[in-house]
Amino acid sequence: MAHLVQVGLGSGGMSVIDMLVRDLRISKVTLIEPDLLKPHNLPRHLLSSDNVGKSKLLSAVKWLKDRNANLEIVSIEAFLQDPDKQEQIHKAIKDANFGVCAVDNEEAKYQWCSLMRQHGIPWTLGEVLSGGIGGFVHTFVPGGPCYACACSYLKREGPKDSKDLEPDYSNPSGQVEEARIPASFASIQSIASLHALATLDLLDAKIVPSSFLLPLQKVEGIFSESLKKIVVNVSKNENCLFCCRSTEVVADVDDLLQKKLKELSGGLGL
Ligand SMILES: [Zn+2]
Repeated sequence: MAHLVQVGLGSGGMSVIDMLVRDLRISKVTLIEPDLLKPHNLPRHLLSSDNVGKSKLLSAVKWLKDRNANLEIVSIEAFLQDPDKQEQIHKAIKDANFGVCAVDNEEAKYQWCSLMRQHGIPWTLGEVLSGGIGGFVHTFVPGGPCYACACSYLKREGPKDSKDLEPDYSNPSGQVEEARIPASFASIQSIASLHALATLDLLDAKIVPSSFLLPLQKVEGIFSESLKKIVVNVSKNENCLFCCRSTEVVADVDDLLQKKLKELSGGLGL
C-alpha cells in the first residue's frame, strides 16, 4: 500500500488527487495547502460554492473521504516553506513513497524539489500553460535531472514546436502579460489527467525521468498542431547548483578547508 504526499490543492492539484485516490493501492495521502477557497476559484475548481471561505485542505479531505472511505489522510495546513511546519513536513515526506507537486509559484517548486531530493522520493509536476494552450508533465526521480535542470533546459530550448516564439509560455507563472490568461476548466482537467497518469506510472514502479509538453490548441507561432506530444529531453545539467552539489559536499567545505590549511601549515612547519 502506498503513501502519496502532495503539495497544492488549487484547481489542478484538486483534480489530480481526486483521480489518484480512486486507485485503492494508495492507502495514505499527506496533503499540504495553506489557502482558503475564494469565489474566483470556483469556475476552475472541483469544490463547490458551499466551500467558499473555508479551508481548501479541510474541504478536500471531506471530498476525498467521500470517494475512498478507507483512505488515511494527514493534513498539513501550511505553506511549504513555513518554518514552524518543517519538522512535520519532513516527517511526512520521509514516510512517503512518491510525491505530487501542484503549486504554481517557483519558490515552492524549488523547495519541493529539494525536499524530494533530500528524501530520495520520485515525484511528478503538472504545469498548465497560460490560457490553457497546453501543459507540461514532468516526472523527477532520485539521481535524475532536477526541477532546476528542467528550468535551465526549457529556458535554453523553449517548449515550442516552431522557431519564433514571443511570449515565454515555458514559464507558466511568467511575467509576460499574455502568459497570464486563465486556463479553462477543460484545459486544467486535461493536464491533470496526464499528471495523474504519470503519477500512477510511479505506483507501477515505472520510475524513469520524463518531461513532455502537450499542446491543447493550435496557436500561431507557438504550436503548429494541437494534441501532438512534444517530448522534452531534459538532461542532468552538470553545473546544476541544486542537484550536482550534494548536501554533504556543501557541509564538508569547511572541514575540507580546515584540513587543507592544517596540511599546509604542517608542511610549512608552522
Ligand atoms: Zn539539477
